[in-house]
Amino acid sequence: MDRRILEQARAMLENITPMNRDCGRICGAACCKPDEDGRGGVFLFPGEEELVGGEWATVTRLENGPGLMLACDGTCERAKRPLGCMIFPLTPEIDGEGRVSMRFDVRARPLCPLLRNGLMGLRADFRKTAEQAMRLIASDPEGLAFLREWEALERQYDFKL
Ligand code: SF4
Ligand code: SF4
Repeated sequence: MDRRILEQARAMLENITPMNRDCGRICGAACCKPDEDGRGGVFLFPGEEELVGGEWATVTRLENGPGLMLACDGTCERAKRPLGCMIFPLTPEIDGEGRVSMRFDVRARPLCPLLRNGLMGLRADFRKTAEQAMRLIASDPEGLAFLREWEALERQYDFKL
């Protein structure tokens, strides 16, 4: 996808967080905790592998995923974290016309205390900026295809829960 769009989306969210204070202090940064294999994972947007990661990260391609996945050990360089981490606990939802809105990520259900207060409990500028950034991504054909594939995978996962 157009790298300028990806960089712009990342820049929009770089310094905006779901709460005014560090929400990781509430939950012990539960969403960054490694899984049972000792690692966590987040899908990378098309071309994002050139902008993220470092020695603390491993990037792999999953057979049944929309692209590459970055795994970390629960620590990272903040400026080089994936866009998927920047929008969490939200995830984009795409309608038939390609319009984007935001909802809670199904992976947040078991671990994120912010779900208790619903979407309105999140900072309004975080919600709005996350949505604007995902709309920007969806303006790129490859970005929109990625969002659709990611959402389809999330729905399968949601169905299993
Ligand atoms: S699990 Fe939720 S509250 Fe905890 S760090 Fe992640 S987004 Fe913040
Ligand atoms: S890359 Fe950073 S923000 Fe993303 S899960 Fe790992 S430690 Fe958390």
